[in-house]
Amino acid sequence: MEDVSPMRFDYHALPSRVLFGAGRRRETPEVARQLGCTRPLIVSTPEQKDLAGAIASLFTGSPAQIFPEAAMHTPWDVTARALSLTQASAVDSLIAVGGGSAIGLAKALALRTGLPQIALPTTYAGSEVTPIIGETQDGEKRTRRTLDVLPEAVIYDVELTLTLPARLSATSGLNAMAHAVEALYSVDANPVTSIMAEQGIAALAAALPEILADPASRDARSRAQYGAWLCGTCLGSVGMALHHKVCHVLGGTFDLPHADTHAIMLAHVVAYQAGAAPHAMRRIARALGADDAWTGLHALAARLQVPQSLAEIGMPHEGIGRAAELVLQETYANPRTPDYESITLMLERAWHGAAPQPDSP
Ligand code: NAD
Repeated sequence: MEDVSPMRFDYHALPSRVLFGAGRRRETPEVARQLGCTRPLIVSTPEQKDLAGAIASLFTGSPAQIFPEAAMHTPWDVTARALSLTQASAVDSLIAVGGGSAIGLAKALALRTGLPQIALPTTYAGSEVTPIIGETQDGEKRTRRTLDVLPEAVIYDVELTLTLPARLSATSGLNAMAHAVEALYSVDANPVTSIMAEQGIAALAAALPEILADPASRDARSRAQYGAWLCGTCLGSVGMALHHKVCHVLGGTFDLPHADTHAIMLAHVVAYQAGAAPHAMRRIARALGADDAWTGLHALAARLQVPQSLAEIGMPHEGIGRAAELVLQETYANPRTPDYESITLMLERAWHGAAPQPDSP
């Protein structure tokens, strides 16, 4: 058993129902009915209001309500407005159609109302299969884990992803891959999650360049969505480590775009961890078909033409020290014990868009 080391683990499966396949969004009313629901509130971002309307029109018996104001990082003022609407109308369920922003809003509402949720993801971020919610209030983003926010059903319909711009597909796909990468060296790593992680990385690594070349490819989009489901399941199942902590700090402190931040940082953090997690590195490299994990991820990011530096996405250079301090503030399990000097060095490289370096722990 080369892949299981050491052979001692806990495994927690999460309750979830997944429907996967082109056109399956049309089954949404039936899935709702099976949950005992007929009058949903459908949430989306403003940009995906028409899609929310299209899902609403599938509910022919009683009209579905729409709240198209979801925003990144689940700001509390938006949740409060949606909560008023939920409480004022006789809705019996929540449907999120969109990426992590729409799904985050439905989770925030489910947390406070207990209503069941159906998620129709349109990006690769993976929130739909996690019991995790991050909410922002007074400029601070707080994350917690509770089964109360896990959607009861998820419908992966590839047709909903065909409009995702190529650039966002690439960064969102790398965001998904980051979940699987950290699952492989997670303190909770277990054989089942690791199989999903390796398959998820491999599926996305193969599909994303094809999507960049042909954004309308349903085949490549389906394989990417399959990979995203696997990677999201990893995020939902095991604890994450330094990469997610760094991206959380950078996104929250400097208001950087979520998927871009993940895409830029992933190869740098993997290089940082390399010496402390050799077993995970071998599996990541194998999934990428690369000689080693960080050069494989760096080459993939370059091939996908995603932003290469934190400077490009608006991080102020003088913020590096503050970011390093925040990364070190909380304790969390990580293969390599982080320290101020090495984190600062890694962030400097990422800020300039320099190549990742596996400097030893
Ligand atoms: P997003 O949901 O903010 O979407 C980004 C933009 O793309 C939006 O304008 C959206 O309307 C648009 N869009 C989405 N799908 C589209 C499509 N198919 N076609 C055209 N436009 C489309 O982005 P995201 O990266 O999916 O989500 C980021 C948010 O999700 C962050 O707040 C992050 O913290 C959260 N997140 C949470 C978890 C979790 O487990 N709780 C996991 C991952 C991400």
